[in-house]
Amino acid sequence: MKDNYRISSIFGIPLELHVSFLLLLLFFLVYSLITLNPGPFIYIVMLFATVTLHELSHSLVAMRYGVKISKITLLPFGGIAAMEEIPRNPRKELAIAIAGPGFNFAVAAVTLLLLAAIGEAGRIFPFFDMRIAEPVDLLSLFFKINLLLGAFNLFIPALPMDGGRVLRSLLAFRLGFSAATEIATGIARMIAIFMALLGAFMPNLWLIFIAFFVYIGATQEGEVSKVHLMLSGLKVRDLMSADVVAVDEDITLEEFAEIMFSKKHMGYPVVRDGRLVGIITFSDLSRVPREKWPSTRVGEVMTKRLLTISPEEEASEAFMRMARAGVGRLLVVDEGRLIGIISKTDLLRTLELMRLMRD
Ligand code: ZN
Repeated sequence: MKDNYRISSIFGIPLELHVSFLLLLLFFLVYSLITLNPGPFIYIVMLFATVTLHELSHSLVAMRYGVKISKITLLPFGGIAAMEEIPRNPRKELAIAIAGPGFNFAVAAVTLLLLAAIGEAGRIFPFFDMRIAEPVDLLSLFFKINLLLGAFNLFIPALPMDGGRVLRSLLAFRLGFSAATEIATGIARMIAIFMALLGAFMPNLWLIFIAFFVYIGATQEGEVSKVHLMLSGLKVRDLMSADVVAVDEDITLEEFAEIMFSKKHMGYPVVRDGRLVGIITFSDLSRVPREKWPSTRVGEVMTKRLLTISPEEEASEAFMRMARAGVGRLLVVDEGRLIGIISKTDLLRTLELMRLMRD
Protein backbone atom coordinates (compact mmCIF):
# COMPACT_ATOMS: atom_id res chain seq x y z
CA MET A 1 0.00 0.00 0.00
CA LYS A 2 1.20 3.49 -0.81
CA ASP A 3 1.70 5.92 2.06
CA ASN A 4 0.33 8.97 0.30
CA TYR A 5 -2.36 9.62 -2.28
CA ARG A 6 -2.22 12.65 -4.53
CA ILE A 7 -5.60 14.33 -4.50
CA SER A 8 -5.22 17.74 -6.05
CA SER A 9 -2.99 20.70 -6.41
CA ILE A 10 -3.39 24.19 -5.00
CA PHE A 11 -1.28 27.26 -5.89
CA GLY A 12 0.81 24.81 -7.90
CA ILE A 13 1.53 22.68 -4.80
CA PRO A 14 0.59 18.98 -5.02
CA LEU A 15 -1.74 18.01 -2.19
CA GLU A 16 -1.40 14.47 -0.84
CA LEU A 17 -3.50 12.54 1.62
CA HIS A 18 -1.65 10.29 4.05
CA VAL A 19 -3.08 6.77 4.06
CA SER A 20 -4.11 7.12 7.73
CA PHE A 21 -6.26 10.10 6.83
CA LEU A 22 -7.75 8.32 3.83
CA LEU A 23 -8.69 5.32 5.96
CA LEU A 24 -10.15 7.63 8.58
CA LEU A 25 -12.28 9.43 5.96
CA LEU A 26 -13.56 6.10 4.61
CA PHE A 27 -14.19 4.75 8.09
CA PHE A 28 -16.22 7.80 9.09
CA LEU A 29 -18.11 7.73 5.80
CA VAL A 30 -19.12 4.11 6.30
CA TYR A 31 -19.89 4.74 9.96
CA SER A 32 -22.11 7.70 9.06
CA LEU A 33 -23.94 5.65 6.41
CA ILE A 34 -24.54 2.72 8.73
CA THR A 35 -25.74 4.81 11.67
CA LEU A 36 -27.62 7.24 9.38
CA ASN A 37 -25.92 10.03 11.29
CA PRO A 38 -23.93 12.43 9.09
CA GLY A 39 -22.22 13.96 12.15
CA PRO A 40 -19.00 11.93 12.22
CA PHE A 41 -18.42 12.36 8.50
CA ILE A 42 -19.05 16.12 8.64
CA TYR A 43 -16.64 16.25 11.53
CA ILE A 44 -13.85 14.52 9.63
CA VAL A 45 -14.40 16.61 6.48
CA MET A 46 -14.15 19.77 8.58
CA LEU A 47 -10.93 18.49 10.09
CA PHE A 48 -9.66 17.85 6.59
CA ALA A 49 -10.50 21.41 5.50
CA THR A 50 -8.91 22.85 8.62
CA VAL A 51 -5.68 20.92 8.20
CA THR A 52 -5.51 21.97 4.55
CA LEU A 53 -5.95 25.65 5.40
CA HIS A 54 -3.35 25.30 8.14
CA GLU A 55 -0.74 23.86 5.78
CA LEU A 56 -1.56 26.34 3.03
CA SER A 57 -0.90 29.18 5.46
CA HIS A 58 2.57 27.78 6.22
CA SER A 59 3.20 27.30 2.52
CA LEU A 60 2.12 30.75 1.40
CA VAL A 61 4.34 32.47 3.97
CA ALA A 62 7.22 30.17 3.03
CA MET A 63 6.72 30.95 -0.65
CA ARG A 64 6.84 34.65 0.11
CA TYR A 65 10.35 34.03 1.43
CA GLY A 66 11.21 32.28 -1.81
CA VAL A 67 11.08 28.76 -0.31
CA LYS A 68 9.69 26.22 -2.74
CA ILE A 69 7.07 23.77 -1.44
CA SER A 70 7.37 20.41 -3.15
CA LYS A 71 4.16 18.98 -1.69
CA ILE A 72 1.73 19.07 1.19
CA THR A 73 0.88 15.82 2.98
CA LEU A 74 -2.26 15.81 5.10
CA LEU A 75 -2.34 13.78 8.31
CA PRO A 76 -5.31 13.70 10.69
CA PHE A 77 -3.61 15.83 13.34
CA GLY A 78 -1.90 18.24 11.02
CA GLY A 79 0.03 18.21 7.84
CA ILE A 80 3.51 18.40 6.49
CA ALA A 81 4.43 21.02 3.96
CA ALA A 82 7.58 19.59 2.43
CA MET A 83 9.80 22.59 1.92
CA GLU A 84 12.67 22.39 -0.47
CA GLU A 85 14.68 23.84 2.35
CA ILE A 86 13.79 24.92 5.85
CA PRO A 87 15.16 28.44 6.14
CA ARG A 88 18.16 28.56 8.43
CA ASN A 89 17.14 32.08 9.26
CA PRO A 90 15.30 32.09 12.61
CA ARG A 91 13.09 35.04 11.75
CA LYS A 92 11.79 33.29 8.62
CA GLU A 93 11.35 29.92 10.31
CA LEU A 94 9.43 31.60 13.12
CA ALA A 95 7.11 33.40 10.72
CA ILE A 96 6.45 30.24 8.70
CA ALA A 97 5.83 28.16 11.84
CA ILE A 98 3.39 30.64 13.36
CA ALA A 99 1.43 31.10 10.12
CA GLY A 100 -0.40 27.74 10.34
CA PRO A 101 -1.74 27.92 13.91
CA GLY A 102 -2.14 31.70 13.51
CA PHE A 103 -4.56 31.19 10.64
CA ASN A 104 -6.50 28.57 12.64
CA PHE A 105 -6.82 31.02 15.55
CA ALA A 106 -8.00 33.73 13.15
CA VAL A 107 -10.64 31.41 11.67
CA ALA A 108 -11.71 30.41 15.20
CA ALA A 109 -12.04 34.08 16.20
CA VAL A 110 -14.15 34.94 13.14
CA THR A 111 -16.37 31.90 13.71
CA LEU A 112 -16.87 32.85 17.34
CA LEU A 113 -17.78 36.41 16.34
CA LEU A 114 -20.32 35.04 13.87
CA LEU A 115 -21.81 32.86 16.60
CA ALA A 116 -21.94 35.85 18.94
CA ALA A 117 -23.57 37.99 16.24
CA ILE A 118 -26.46 35.54 15.99
CA GLY A 119 -26.64 35.21 19.76
CA GLU A 120 -25.40 31.61 19.81
CA ALA A 121 -21.96 31.96 21.40
CA GLY A 122 -23.12 29.76 24.27
CA ARG A 123 -23.25 26.88 21.77
CA ILE A 124 -19.56 26.25 22.22
CA PHE A 125 -20.22 24.78 25.68
CA PRO A 126 -19.67 22.08 26.76
CA PHE A 127 -16.45 22.42 24.84
CA PHE A 128 -15.74 18.76 24.16
CA ASP A 129 -19.27 17.99 23.03
CA MET A 130 -18.83 17.63 19.28
CA ARG A 131 -22.39 16.56 18.43
CA ILE A 132 -24.29 18.31 15.68
CA ALA A 133 -27.90 18.76 16.81
CA GLU A 134 -28.78 21.87 14.78
CA PRO A 135 -27.21 23.59 11.75
CA VAL A 136 -25.70 26.26 14.00
CA ASP A 137 -23.61 23.54 15.64
CA LEU A 138 -21.62 23.35 12.41
CA LEU A 139 -20.21 26.80 13.16
CA SER A 140 -19.47 25.88 16.74
CA LEU A 141 -17.76 22.67 15.60
CA PHE A 142 -15.64 24.57 13.10
CA PHE A 143 -14.63 26.96 15.86
CA LYS A 144 -13.57 24.09 18.13
CA ILE A 145 -11.64 22.20 15.47
CA ASN A 146 -9.68 25.29 14.46
CA LEU A 147 -8.94 26.24 18.04
CA LEU A 148 -7.85 22.71 18.98
CA LEU A 149 -5.72 22.11 15.90
CA GLY A 150 -4.00 25.49 16.24
CA ALA A 151 -3.32 24.98 19.94
CA PHE A 152 -2.18 21.39 19.52
CA ASN A 153 0.37 22.33 16.86
CA LEU A 154 1.61 25.52 18.47
CA PHE A 155 1.81 24.64 22.15
CA ILE A 156 3.61 21.30 22.00
CA PRO A 157 7.24 22.36 21.65
CA ALA A 158 8.34 19.21 19.81
CA LEU A 159 10.07 19.36 16.44
CA PRO A 160 8.86 18.84 13.72
CA MET A 161 5.59 20.25 15.07
CA ASP A 162 5.05 24.00 14.80
CA GLY A 163 5.71 24.56 18.50
CA GLY A 164 9.07 22.83 18.07
CA ARG A 165 9.93 25.10 15.15
CA VAL A 166 9.02 28.14 17.21
CA LEU A 167 11.25 26.85 20.01
CA ARG A 168 14.15 26.10 17.65
CA SER A 169 13.98 29.50 15.96
CA LEU A 170 13.79 31.32 19.30
CA LEU A 171 16.85 29.38 20.50
CA ALA A 172 18.61 29.99 17.18
CA PHE A 173 18.42 33.78 17.65
CA ARG A 174 20.89 33.36 20.54
CA LEU A 175 22.69 30.07 19.91
CA GLY A 176 22.82 29.63 16.16
CA PHE A 177 21.03 27.02 14.11
CA SER A 178 23.00 23.89 14.95
CA ALA A 179 23.07 24.26 18.71
CA ALA A 180 19.41 25.27 18.70
CA THR A 181 18.52 22.17 16.69
CA GLU A 182 20.40 19.93 19.06
CA ILE A 183 18.51 21.24 22.08
CA ALA A 184 15.14 21.31 20.27
CA THR A 185 15.45 17.74 18.96
CA GLY A 186 16.46 16.53 22.43
CA ILE A 187 13.36 18.12 23.94
CA ALA A 188 11.21 16.74 21.11
CA ARG A 189 12.40 13.18 21.73
CA MET A 190 11.68 13.46 25.43
CA ILE A 191 8.18 14.74 24.70
CA ALA A 192 7.69 11.90 22.18
CA ILE A 193 8.66 9.29 24.75
CA PHE A 194 6.36 10.89 27.30
CA MET A 195 3.51 10.93 24.75
CA ALA A 196 4.09 7.28 23.87
CA LEU A 197 4.04 6.24 27.54
CA LEU A 198 0.94 8.33 28.16
CA GLY A 199 -0.66 6.82 25.07
CA ALA A 200 0.13 3.30 26.24
CA PHE A 201 -1.17 4.05 29.72
CA MET A 202 -4.48 5.67 28.69
CA PRO A 203 -4.55 3.73 26.20
CA ASN A 204 -4.75 6.10 23.22
CA LEU A 205 -3.53 4.93 19.81
CA TRP A 206 -3.48 8.43 18.34
CA LEU A 207 -1.08 9.63 20.96
CA ILE A 208 1.25 6.72 20.24
CA PHE A 209 1.03 7.41 16.51
CA ILE A 210 1.88 11.08 17.02
CA ALA A 211 4.70 10.15 19.39
CA PHE A 212 6.28 8.03 16.65
CA PHE A 213 5.83 10.81 14.13
CA VAL A 214 7.51 13.33 16.42
CA TYR A 215 10.36 11.00 17.40
CA ILE A 216 11.24 10.08 13.83
CA GLY A 217 10.79 13.64 12.59
CA ALA A 218 12.99 15.07 15.32
CA THR A 219 15.71 12.50 14.65
CA GLN A 220 15.68 13.38 10.96
CA GLU A 221 15.87 17.10 11.66
CA GLY A 222 18.84 16.44 13.89
CA GLU A 223 20.62 14.42 11.23
CA VAL A 224 20.00 16.95 8.50
CA SER A 225 21.39 19.67 10.71
CA LYS A 226 24.51 17.63 11.52
CA VAL A 227 25.13 16.86 7.87
CA HIS A 228 24.74 20.56 7.11
CA LEU A 229 27.28 21.45 9.75
CA MET A 230 29.84 18.83 8.73
CA LEU A 231 29.57 19.48 5.03
CA SER A 232 29.64 23.26 5.36
CA GLY A 233 32.19 24.83 3.09
CA LEU A 234 32.44 21.77 0.84
CA LYS A 235 31.27 22.03 -2.75
CA VAL A 236 29.78 19.34 -4.96
CA ARG A 237 32.97 19.56 -7.03
CA ASP A 238 35.03 18.45 -4.01
CA LEU A 239 33.02 15.29 -3.43
CA MET A 240 31.85 14.13 -6.85
CA SER A 241 33.53 11.36 -8.75
CA ALA A 242 34.77 12.76 -12.01
CA ASP A 243 35.42 9.53 -13.88
CA VAL A 244 31.97 9.18 -15.34
CA VAL A 245 31.28 6.11 -17.43
CA ALA A 246 28.34 6.82 -19.72
CA VAL A 247 26.54 3.96 -21.45
CA ASP A 248 24.64 4.04 -24.74
CA GLU A 249 20.87 3.65 -24.51
CA ASP A 250 20.95 0.93 -27.20
CA ILE A 251 23.18 -1.59 -25.42
CA THR A 252 21.45 -4.55 -23.77
CA LEU A 253 21.21 -5.08 -20.05
CA GLU A 254 23.54 -8.06 -20.50
CA GLU A 255 26.23 -5.73 -21.85
CA PHE A 256 25.43 -3.14 -19.22
CA ALA A 257 25.85 -5.72 -16.43
CA GLU A 258 29.34 -6.49 -17.74
CA ILE A 259 30.30 -2.81 -17.69
CA MET A 260 28.92 -2.60 -14.17
CA PHE A 261 30.97 -5.54 -12.95
CA SER A 262 34.16 -4.13 -14.41
CA LYS A 263 33.68 -0.49 -13.35
CA LYS A 264 31.91 -1.20 -10.05
CA HIS A 265 29.90 2.02 -9.97
CA MET A 266 26.25 1.70 -9.00
CA GLY A 267 24.85 4.33 -11.35
CA TYR A 268 25.60 5.35 -14.95
CA PRO A 269 24.42 8.22 -17.15
CA VAL A 270 22.78 7.06 -20.35
CA VAL A 271 23.51 8.84 -23.64
CA ARG A 272 21.99 8.91 -27.12
CA ASP A 273 24.35 10.30 -29.78
CA GLY A 274 26.46 11.72 -27.00
CA ARG A 275 23.48 13.55 -25.45
CA LEU A 276 22.38 12.81 -21.89
CA VAL A 277 18.96 11.11 -21.86
CA GLY A 278 18.73 9.25 -18.56
CA ILE A 279 20.42 7.40 -15.74
CA ILE A 280 20.53 3.66 -15.05
CA THR A 281 21.36 2.17 -11.68
CA PHE A 282 21.83 -1.22 -10.12
CA SER A 283 18.27 -1.18 -8.82
CA ASP A 284 16.89 -0.53 -12.35
CA LEU A 285 18.83 -3.57 -13.54
CA SER A 286 17.76 -5.78 -10.67
CA ARG A 287 14.08 -5.19 -11.39
CA VAL A 288 14.38 -7.02 -14.74
CA PRO A 289 14.47 -10.85 -14.58
CA ARG A 290 17.86 -12.27 -15.46
CA GLU A 291 16.64 -14.15 -18.55
CA LYS A 292 15.38 -10.91 -20.13
CA TRP A 293 18.73 -9.11 -19.93
CA PRO A 294 19.92 -10.07 -23.44
CA SER A 295 16.70 -8.79 -25.05
CA THR A 296 16.15 -5.62 -23.01
CA ARG A 297 17.82 -2.34 -23.83
CA VAL A 298 19.13 0.16 -21.31
CA GLY A 299 16.82 2.83 -22.78
CA GLU A 300 13.77 0.78 -21.78
CA VAL A 301 14.48 0.58 -18.06
CA MET A 302 16.54 3.70 -17.36
CA THR A 303 15.17 6.54 -15.25
CA LYS A 304 14.40 9.45 -17.55
CA ARG A 305 14.05 12.03 -14.81
CA LEU A 306 17.42 13.72 -14.77
CA LEU A 307 18.34 15.17 -11.43
CA THR A 308 21.31 17.42 -11.84
CA ILE A 309 23.33 19.79 -9.73
CA SER A 310 26.00 22.35 -10.44
CA PRO A 311 29.58 21.63 -9.27
CA GLU A 312 29.59 24.97 -7.43
CA GLU A 313 26.60 24.09 -5.21
CA GLU A 314 27.13 23.30 -1.53
CA ALA A 315 27.62 19.59 -0.86
CA SER A 316 24.90 19.76 1.80
CA GLU A 317 22.50 21.00 -0.87
CA ALA A 318 23.24 17.85 -2.90
CA PHE A 319 22.44 15.75 0.18
CA MET A 320 19.11 17.54 0.71
CA ARG A 321 18.15 17.26 -2.94
CA MET A 322 18.78 13.50 -2.96
CA ALA A 323 16.84 13.02 0.26
CA ARG A 324 13.86 14.96 -1.08
CA ALA A 325 13.82 13.15 -4.42
CA GLY A 326 14.45 9.77 -2.80
CA VAL A 327 17.39 9.02 -5.11
CA GLY A 328 20.94 7.95 -4.42
CA ARG A 329 22.83 10.08 -6.93
CA LEU A 330 22.81 13.33 -8.88
CA LEU A 331 24.48 14.14 -12.17
CA VAL A 332 26.91 17.01 -11.93
CA VAL A 333 26.41 19.28 -14.92
CA ASP A 334 28.49 22.34 -15.70
CA GLU A 335 27.22 24.63 -18.48
CA GLY A 336 25.26 21.79 -20.02
CA ARG A 337 28.21 19.39 -19.89
CA LEU A 338 28.19 16.28 -17.70
CA ILE A 339 31.35 16.39 -15.60
CA GLY A 340 30.67 13.96 -12.75
CA ILE A 341 28.33 12.07 -10.48
CA ILE A 342 27.77 12.67 -6.81
CA SER A 343 26.23 9.88 -4.77
CA LYS A 344 24.92 9.53 -1.26
CA THR A 345 27.67 6.97 -0.74
CA ASP A 346 30.29 9.60 -1.66
CA LEU A 347 28.77 11.99 0.86
CA LEU A 348 28.45 9.42 3.62
CA ARG A 349 32.00 8.21 3.06
CA THR A 350 33.24 11.77 3.40
CA LEU A 351 31.26 12.21 6.59
CA GLU A 352 32.70 8.98 8.00
CA LEU A 353 36.22 10.10 7.09
CA MET A 354 35.70 13.48 8.69
CA ARG A 355 34.43 11.82 11.84
CA LEU A 356 37.53 9.60 11.94
CA MET A 357 39.87 12.51 11.42
CA ARG A 358 38.19 14.54 14.12
CA ASP A 359 38.50 11.83 16.78
ZN1 ZN B 1 1.69 23.49 11.19
